[in-house]
Amino acid sequence: MSRVKSKNTGPEITVRKLVYGLGYRYRLHDASLPGKPDLVFRTRRKVIFVNGCFWHSHKDCPKARTPKTRQDFWKNKMQKNAKRDEENQNHLGRLGWKCLVIWQCQTKDLESLEKLIIEFLGD
Ligand SMILES: [Zn+2]
Repeated sequence: MSRVKSKNTGPEITVRKLVYGLGYRYRLHDASLPGKPDLVFRTRRKVIFVNGCFWHSHKDCPKARTPKTRQDFWKNKMQKNAKRDEENQNHLGRLGWKCLVIWQCQTKDLESLEKLIIEFLGD
């Protein structure tokens, strides 16, 4: 595989590449599941969400601070997103799926990210 750095590397692409490189195969954005999880491992009945820290209000994360202007608007919006995330994950849990949320800021440290993924998916 080429090691050339691509400019097009959002957190989700980073996770996808890493998971694929570890030999796991997955489906993308399965709309038949609550919350349309980013990566779906059907046979393992596991899903991974890759969440942006800001939009999904990563707790205690510097990237998740509300902007200085229109604070009520942003707070409201971010709370709604967080609530929807929680509901989707609970729903998936009731259907027998296990969820892992990978935060955008966690994708910077590839070594611990890899550990996290292997721990979650097993072998
Ligand atoms: Zn974060």
